[in-house]
Amino acid sequence: MHIETQCLHEGYKPKNGDPKALPIYQSTTYTYDSTDHIGQLFDLTADGHMYSRISNPTVAAVEEKIAALEGGVGALCTTSGQAATLISVLNICVAGDHLVAASTIYGGTVNLFAVTLKKFGIECTFVNADDDEETIQKAFRPNTKLLFGETIANPAIAVLDIEKFARIAHSNGVPLIVDNTFATPVLCRPFEWGADIVIHSTTKYMDGHAVQVGGVVVDSGNFDWTNGKFPELCEPDESYHGVTYTKQFGRAAYITKARVQLMRDFGMYPPATAAFILNLGLETLAVRMERYCRNAEAVADFLAASDKVEFVNYPTVKGNPYAALREKYLPKGASGVISFSVKGGRDDAVRFMDSLSLANNVVHVADICTCVLHPASSTHRQLTDEQLVAAGITPGLIRLSVGLEHIDDILADIQKGLDAI
Ligand SMILES: *Cc1c(COP(=O)(O)O)cnc(C)c1O
Repeated sequence: MHIETQCLHEGYKPKNGDPKALPIYQSTTYTYDSTDHIGQLFDLTADGHMYSRISNPTVAAVEEKIAALEGGVGALCTTSGQAATLISVLNICVAGDHLVAASTIYGGTVNLFAVTLKKFGIECTFVNADDDEETIQKAFRPNTKLLFGETIANPAIAVLDIEKFARIAHSNGVPLIVDNTFATPVLCRPFEWGADIVIHSTTKYMDGHAVQVGGVVVDSGNFDWTNGKFPELCEPDESYHGVTYTKQFGRAAYITKARVQLMRDFGMYPPATAAFILNLGLETLAVRMERYCRNAEAVADFLAASDKVEFVNYPTVKGNPYAALREKYLPKGASGVISFSVKGGRDDAVRFMDSLSLANNVVHVADICTCVLHPASSTHRQLTDEQLVAAGITPGLIRLSVGLEHIDDILADIQKGLDAI
C-alpha cells in the first residue's frame, strides 16, 4: 500500500459487522474467563490487554498504524513527545552511561539530555551534525549507548544526513535514534536510511489540529542488541520474573521492554480518547503534508525575494546548504516549517509578528493553521542578543509554520507584516 492508503487503512481493520470507525475502548481493564489466562498475560506468553497503563485496544490500533507508516516492527504511544524521547533513551541507558546528540535538536530535548538526565547519572555530548565522521566520532566513549538526531532540526531547519549518522552509530555498536517529528513518515522514513529507533511528538503534524499533546516510539527491529553493550535487553529482567527480551521477543525486544518495563513503571500511556483523536489526524496526514510543503516552498521563496529579509532557512530556497540532503532524504518536500530573520533585528521582528492577522502568534508549530513564534521574545527570552547568536538564533529570527490556508491569503498576511517594518 502507498502511504496515503496506509494512513487510512492500517491499524484498525474492522471485520464483518464491526463499527466502521475506530472504537474508543474507554476501560481501564479487561476481563478473562480464567486465572490461568491472566497468568499467561503476566508471563507475556499470551497476547491480550490487561491494564490500560500498559496497553489499550484503541491506542494499540494507532500504534500499529504508526509502526506501519514508519516500516517498523512495533510502536509505543506516550503522553507527550518528551515522554517518547525519555523512554527511547532510558530503555537502553542507565546511570553511568553516555549518549551523543546533534546540537541542533529541539530545545526541550537539549534540556532533557543536558540538565535532567545528567541528574540521573546519564551524560550527553552534543556534536555539530554537519561535521565529518571523524570529528563526530571523537565524542564517543566506551560507555556511549546511542546517537540521537532530528530529521529536520527546529528552528535551524537543518536536514540530518541520516546515513552518515547511522554509519557512525553502527561502527560504535550503538543504535541511531531519530526524532522524525517535522518530516513525518510521509516525507521521510528514517529506517530506510539505517536509523534503528524513531520517535515523534505526535502533538505536531501527526495530530495536526493543535488539540492534544502526545508522542510515540517506533522500533525498526533491525538493531542487534546482543552485541555485548546492552545486557538489559539480553539478560533476564529480575523485575519481570526473569524474561529475556531478545530471546522471547526477537526483533521486537526493544519495544516490548519499553512497554512492559518502562511504561509499567513510569505510566505515561495515553488514554483511548487521545488515540482516537490522533487517529483522525493520521488519516489525513499524507494529503496535509503535500499541501504544507507546497505552501512553505512558495512562502520561503516569497520571503527570500524581500529586501527586508536577511536570510531564510528552508531547504528549497536557492543557495541553502541542505539542498542536496533535502533532495536525498526529503524528495517530496521539507515540511511546512520555515525560519527567517528580518534585517532590523528584535524590534522589526516584533513589528512583523504584531501586524499579522491570519497567522496565530502561538507557542506551537506544525499545525493545520499558519502560526508564528519569535524565539528571542518567547522560548529563548532569557538570553542576551549575544547568547542568541551563539545558539544559532538571531534576534530577528522568526519561526513560521505554514498551514493549509490558500497560499494567496498566507502571502497577503506576510506582506502585511513586511509592510509594517
Ligand atoms: C515539540 C517537539 C518535541 C516535544 O514534544 P511534546 O509533544 O511537546 O512533548 C520533540 N521534538 C520535536 C522536534 C518537537 O518539535
